[in-house]
Formats: sequence, structure tokens, C-alpha cells
Amino acid sequence: LRSGEPSVLDGLDPDQRRAAAHPGGPLLVLAGPGTGKTRTLVHAIAHRVAELGVPAEQCLAVTFTRRAAGELTERLDAMLGERARRVLATTFHGLGLAIVREQHERLARGAHVRVADDAVRAQLLDAALHGEGDARARRRVTAGISELKRLRALGEARRDHDLVGVLARYDAELRERDMVDLDDLVTLPLTLLRDSPELVEHYRARFRHVWVDEYQDTDELQYRLLGLLCPPAANLSVIGDPDQAIYSFRGADVGFFLRFERDYPGARTVALTRGYRSTPTIVRAALDVIAPASLVPGRTLTAVRGAAGDGPVLLRRYTSEAEEAIAVVDSIDVALGGTSFHALDSGVDGSVDAGLSFADIAVLYRTTRQGEPIMEALAKRGFPFQRRSHLPLADAPAVAGLLAMLRASAGPQAATGHGAGGGSGAMNGSVTAGGPGNGGGRPVAVLLRDAVSRALDLADALRTELGAATTPAGAEGFPGGRVPTEAELRLAMELLAPSAAAAGTDLDGFLTAVTMASEVDGYDPRADRVSLLTLHASKGLEFGLVFLVGCEDGLLPMRFGPAGRQGSSAEAAAAEAAAEAEERRLFFVGVTRARDRLILSSAARRPGVRGDGETRPSPFLADIGASLVTTGGATAASSRRAARRPVAGQQLRLV
Ligand code: ATP
Ligand code: MG
Repeated sequence: LRSGEPSVLDGLDPDQRRAAAHPGGPLLVLAGPGTGKTRTLVHAIAHRVAELGVPAEQCLAVTFTRRAAGELTERLDAMLGERARRVLATTFHGLGLAIVREQHERLARGAHVRVADDAVRAQLLDAALHGEGDARARRRVTAGISELKRLRALGEARRDHDLVGVLARYDAELRERDMVDLDDLVTLPLTLLRDSPELVEHYRARFRHVWVDEYQDTDELQYRLLGLLCPPAANLSVIGDPDQAIYSFRGADVGFFLRFERDYPGARTVALTRGYRSTPTIVRAALDVIAPASLVPGRTLTAVRGAAGDGPVLLRRYTSEAEEAIAVVDSIDVALGGTSFHALDSGVDGSVDAGLSFADIAVLYRTTRQGEPIMEALAKRGFPFQRRSHLPLADAPAVAGLLAMLRASAGPQAATGHGAGGGSGAMNGSVTAGGPGNGGGRPVAVLLRDAVSRALDLADALRTELGAATTPAGAEGFPGGRVPTEAELRLAMELLAPSAAAAGTDLDGFLTAVTMASEVDGYDPRADRVSLLTLHASKGLEFGLVFLVGCEDGLLPMRFGPAGRQGSSAEAAAAEAAAEAEERRLFFVGVTRARDRLILSSAARRPGVRGDGETRPSPFLADIGASLVTTGGATAASSRRAARRPVAGQQLRLV
């Protein structure tokens, strides 16, 4: 690469350029939100392929969601053209599936091995338990065998574990149907590689250049798998921000990030310190928020954006959740109006030309349920929205029900393997129930339409037969036999439609894709709709205007009750402190999604929080410097007092 020639590194700042120009060997990019980590990663891959001559098929980029992987491929495509598609950009689960498919013979599976979804898993487990035990016992066993698989892959399982027998039978059921489950997608590749130096060599040669984004949320199995693929001198680049580690509830451990330099001695470290995303005020507010729990001592993050358009963070308190939702929609109305944010501030200076589109706006919240009142308020006003959580796609009851209907309509072959020949009475019933026979050859999208319209008919029939005491025929596939509402079905349809369209006539492929997906994978940042997202799902995204609702003590931070019941009180206190630190990081992630404007709100009453008593504003609010916030009508200082003080008896209502 001669100086003066145009390069894929153009458009990066000097630090980003240093990171992206790294020619090989281990690299750690540790940087805060909005500093261009993900952008740098794309340029780094493009640089190695286009300018250092690395074959694209030797490149593996691991992202946290399938959505992020898709975006990465798209951006590479724009820079590299067709050969970009030979870069494997995927999640750890996607990588696992690729390895499982390639090594299917060693795993006693066929070439078209499929991934069992939860419903199928439950049926297989039933068979393994010979139908014994109630629903609660089965849930315990499900969690237990998942844990046992994990321990086994880590080489830590006890031979006399209670569930060894059940797991063996369950695994046999899976094998018989040519299936693996989600746990297998990481545990099987890890076990294969751990036991075969020859396979390790094979995959090291195959993926000579590896990048991992959001490395702070890696779990132990993923860490071990990565360790086998990438020995200490490997061309491994990890990118992330320890202060944005928010998935420990799923087993992620920021400790792996923090010990990268020990695991990969001689690793080059690059820090990015310029924040491109947010206004100076939002960056400073975010730093105030994270300071008490930062895992990056001496972190520097400086906003490169100028003062133009900068304005204070808005703090608002409402009497109820419903009032909060309506106020959010009112504010969106104002922001869309094209006047200015000035109107939002009720007289505070620092106006920005608004005239935003729906796509520039997000409403973020701690728990999935909180999306409902917001959704209702938006729908009433006729504003378009898309709602996504970080939870598995197939967990949404309406989605689960539609998938059950699909399997039924496609006949016993679909997704549960060999059907009647499978040797298990327990698993055939609901799969074949009511199906019009094998749907082979029909486009998945058509099958899905079919299923939706049948479900809508069911919902309709239920509405007209008010008070019907029996579950209507066809409702069995829906969790608990409850037929979803029309709104739920429409949302489920919307979540499933992209995968259905992509699958063509490959129903198995569709079911596998849906099983591996989380709701946020189907998130479309370009759709002109307001985004309703859980904080976990908002990771990596950005919006002009962000509302973070439900900033209440007990909700954000969420309190999980007495942690570590069996441990000593010191252990319990440590666990609680760790949980609170993670909540703070989650709040930090939310705050840093905003480019131009941030509105933090709380409601004095919220179902499920503090019973009938009044909520207290989140203690995190009081950590934001007084000069950075405004309450609109009242002064910033009085609102800070409100954040510190118990709210009982106080009439603070700021709209
Ligand atoms: P997060 O921690 O939230 O994942 P990140 O560090 O990955 O953030 P990016 O999403 O890559 O940050 O970038 C944030 C924003 O800043 C994007 O809009 C990106 O286009 C912009 N940006 C990054 N680097 C530059 C640059 N050198 N010049 C102009 N804009 C930039
Ligand atoms: Mg990023």
C-alpha cells in the first residue's frame, strides 16, 4: 500500500487506522461506545483482503447477533464486492452449526442435520423421561441437562450426575432424528476440537484471520472454542468495551476480555478515544453514569461533535405508566413536527432542527413487558413502530404457536425427523395433529400465510363464542392452549416473514433459522418506524432521539431479591453488588444509544414495582452532573434532589 493511493482505510481517524491496518497477530481494541469499533472492524477485514491479499475465505468475523452479521456482510459487500461473501460473518451459534454440518459423520448425523426448537426439545425430553414428571419437574430437567452438556464440554461433569441417564436417552432421541439442540451448537464443536488435534489443525488453517466484535460478552464455552481456533500467536482481533458487558445472566463473563493480554502475550492494544456518535453532553452524562462501576480505569472518551445542536438530557417524571407512554408519543409528535427540540425543552436553550423521521427514534426499556403501553399509545396515534426484544424469537407465544401449526401442516417429516418411524409415541401427537398432509415443495411463506389465517380464524371464532369453556380445535399448538390476539399474530407474522421469504421452499432451513434467531435479528434499522427495544436488544445501535423509560429504582436497576441464598452474607452482598454493576452498565448502554437527544423518564406508579407504593426514581439519575440535565419546567437541581430523595408524599410532575 503506497501512501497517497486511495485505501479502504481512508475515512478512519489515526487510532482507528492503526487498529484497522494491523497486519496480523493478536490485537485488542478496547474502546467506549460510539468510538467506531464496529466500523473499524469492517475496514480491518477489507484492508486484509483487498490490500494485504488475504483470501476472503480465510476470514471469520464473529458478531453478537445475526442482524449484526448481516450488516457486516452488507458493508463488506459495498467495499469488496462479490468476494465479500466468502468472508464468514456469523454468530458463535452460526459458526457452531457450520462445524456441526461439516463434521456430521463424526457426530453420527446426516448432512442435513437440523436444530431442534423448544417445542421439539420438550417432546424429545418427554420421550427420554418416559412421560414422567409434571411440567415443573420437566423444566428443571431441561435446565439440568443443558447445564450438564455445558459441564461435559468443559470436562467438568461428574460421572454420577443425576441426569446422566436422561441426557443419554435425550441425546439418542436427537441423534435418531438427525437433530442437534442449541446447546450442542457450541458444545459439540468444542468437544470435537478438544479431542482431535487433526481437526484443530484443519480449522486453524481454514480460519487464519479471526475477528470478534462485542468480545466483552463472550461466555466460557465460546472462549474455549475460540482458544482452540486461535493459539496465542494467531491473527485474532477482539473488539469490545468491558463497560458494556450486559449478558452475564446468560453466562457471559467479562473476565475473558480483561485477560486477553495474558492469553495472547505480545498482543497489540489500540484504544479509540474519540466518540463520534453522541453530543458532548450525552457523552459526559454517560461517563458520569459509568464512573462508579467502570472496568476501564482512566477511560478517556471525548466527543468530536461540536456544540452545535447540543442540549441537556431531559429528566421527566410522570404519575403513571400510561401517562409516561402518552407523553412519549406527544414528544415524538413534536420531534416529527420539524420545528425544533426547543419545544421539548419547555424553554431551555440549545435547540436542534428536529423534523426527525420515525426511523431516528427509539424507546428503550428494561423489561419486555414495558413495551406494551408504549406500543398501544403509538398505535392509537397511528405511528408506525417495530418492537424487538433480545429474547429467542421462538419464545414469543404467538411465534411458537405458528411454528407448531406449520409443522403440523407440513406433516410428520418436518422438523421432528422420522415421524412415525421415530420410535417415540410421545412426540408424534401434536406434530401431525390436524395437518392436511405433507406440505413438501410449497414455499414456506405460503405455508406461513396459511397458518396465520387459520390462527386468525381461531381468534375470531373465540371472540364470537364468548365464554366457551373448551379449548377450540387447533389451539393445542399454542402455549397453554391460549390463542393469541390478532395483534400478537400480526407481530409474530412480521417477525417470521423475513426468514420465511429467505427460506424459499426449505421448511427445515426456515425452522432452523428461526430456532437460532432472537427477535432483534429481524430488526430493520432502515424501516421508517419508531423502534421499541429492550436495553439488551439495543446494543450496538444508535438513534437521533432516545427515550429511556422506566428509570425507577427496582426496575433499573432491577433488583433480584436476596441473591446467593446458600452462600454467606458476604457472598450474597458481593453477588448483589455485581448484579447492580451490571444494571449500571445496562443503563450506560441505553444512554449511549442516543446521537442528539436523550429523555430519561420514570413513573410514580408502575404495575409490579413496589406494589401499590410510589416508585423512586433510579439512583443512577442522581449520578449525572447537574449541568447536563434539565427537567423542562423545573430546575435541574430540584430534579436531582428528587432522584436522591424517596418520592413518597412528593408531587413532582413534569410534563
Ligand atoms: P458501540 O460500542 O455502541 O457498539 P462502536 O464503537 O461500535 O459503538 P460504531 O457503531 O462503529 O461505534 O460507530 C458509531 C458512529 O460513529 C457510527 O455512526 C459511525 O458511522 C460513526 N463513526 C465512527 N468512526 C467515524 C469516523 N472516523 N468518522 C466519522 N464517523 C465515524
Ligand atoms: Mg459496535
